[in-house]
Order: sequence, then C-alpha cells, then structure tokens
Amino acid sequence: MSGANRGERAAGSEGFGASRAARAVARVEHLIKGPVWGCQMCGQCVLHSTGLTCPMTCPKTLRNGPCGGVRPNGHCEVKPEMRCVWLKAYERSERLPLWRGHIDDLRPPVDNTLEGTSSWINLISGRDRQVPAGWMADADVEP
Ligand code: SF4
Repeated sequence: MSGANRGERAAGSEGFGASRAARAVARVEHLIKGPVWGCQMCGQCVLHSTGLTCPMTCPKTLRNGPCGGVRPNGHCEVKPEMRCVWLKAYERSERLPLWRGHIDDLRPPVDNTLEGTSSWINLISGRDRQVPAGWMADADVEP
C-alpha cells in the first residue's frame, strides 16, 4: 500500500477506531510529510533518529540500518535505481545539528496496528513508545 493510500485510509471514514479529529490530524500530517519525506504513515515517526530519512521508504522497511544487499554502488538490491535509504540516513545524520547520535539508537519493531494513524498524536499520547512484550533496547544479553 502506498503512503498516499495509507494517508487516505487514515483520513477516511472507516477503520482505525480513530475520532474524526484524529483522522483530520493524520490527513494534515500526511499532506505535509508525504511530499517532504515520502512519509508512509507508519504512525511511529523516527525521522529524528534517521537523519530525517524515512526508513519506511526502504523496500524492506528496515528500521535499524541496511540489509546485507546494498550494491557496490550504494544502491538498493530490491530497487537498483534507488540509493540505499540507510546510506542516505547515515550521511544526513552526520549533517544534522541535532539528534546526530540518535542514528545509533536501537529502534523497536514497527507496530503495524498504528499504520495510517498520526505519529504526532501517538507521540503525545505515548502510544508510539509501547513495544512488544519482552523487547528491550538495552537488553542484558550475556555473550
Ligand atoms: S517514520 Fe513513519 S511517520 Fe515518520 S516519516 Fe516515515 S512513515 Fe512517516
């Protein structure tokens, strides 16, 4: 499903159990972030930790760095015409005046139940920080 469709779905009259106001906010968010960042309306925005590069534009929607298939020219193995989203993210994060080190953070898996909802609302409510049971960014794992 394209980002546009997700935004339309978020703003549509059915689904998500969201209020009319929440759908209106999602529509505004998509109108702004779609053209600028290619936002796919995942509902859990991590742009600040990816050099303002949307990880959901990666064909594999990877949230924690590139896969092992980056081509020697830095392009994507799935879409050879496209530069790897994660190479762009690392380069851009180096140039950010803020959040530069956040690219090294471990981001939790995407919660697909938030797809199409407003990440702005989910940020304010804290819903975007709910992680799957047992998931920890700083897990104490013995080597
Ligand atoms: S991380 Fe999610 S909310 Fe942020 S720009 Fe990408 S799809 Fe949109």
